[in-house]
Amino acid sequence: MRQIIIAGNWKMYKTVRDASEFLQEFLQHLEHTPEGREIVLCIPATSLWVISKSLHGSRIRLGAQNVHWEEEGAFTGEIAPGMLTEIGVRYVVVGHSERRQYFGETDETVNKRLIAAQKAGLKPILCVGETKAQRDSGETEKIIISQLEKGLPGVDLAQLVIAYEPIWAIGTGDTCEVKEANRVIGVIRSQLSNPDVPIQYGGSVKPNLIDEIMAQPEIDGVLVGGASLVPQDFARIVNYF
Ligand code: PEP
Repeated sequence: MRQIIIAGNWKMYKTVRDASEFLQEFLQHLEHTPEGREIVLCIPATSLWVISKSLHGSRIRLGAQNVHWEEEGAFTGEIAPGMLTEIGVRYVVVGHSERRQYFGETDETVNKRLIAAQKAGLKPILCVGETKAQRDSGETEKIIISQLEKGLPGVDLAQLVIAYEPIWAIGTGDTCEVKEANRVIGVIRSQLSNPDVPIQYGGSVKPNLIDEIMAQPEIDGVLVGGASLVPQDFARIVNYF
């Protein structure tokens, strides 16, 4: 059975105070959210500890936005897997296109981060997706299959979430046509030896689109950037249908 996972990625937004205010409002909207939906907030590292404590007993799972592959060491600015699990973090985004584009993340470092995260008990959300130029030149499948082939060796598929995030759709308002997102996610699934890996769609997901997105048979949830910053918007997304 594939799990439904709705995750927010706050990127580099919200102070601790902002995060607390968000939660106060957002939690009020979860009273009638169906049980089977896993709700994850991937928030800045500075807020993880405080928010972890205030989420105790709630149904929201906490996620980080990056993790290093070593358990400790001279890696200024990085966070070790055990530092995340110690404070109650359950998920971590790995290989987001912004990390690949601005911080030199490669399929090889993505692979190391995935393996280390799982070893520590974290469930990684692996992001894959093509640029506009790659899509326009008909390379979408080739790029994504290559990201999977290089990113997944040694990774436990039973403890993994994949997010299909076409880069041209992230933060642009240019959402991928839902049937196309469904098709590409089907291609991703066809590459996996475990058919139960939850595969999300990400890229300008907005409240007015969520019902149509979640009606697609291959799509098991969403990874949401901008719309996860607004409590009412993210609540509408979590409470789809
Ligand atoms: C993201 O950050 O992964 C993302 C999909 O952002 P947005 O929803 O803003 O496009």
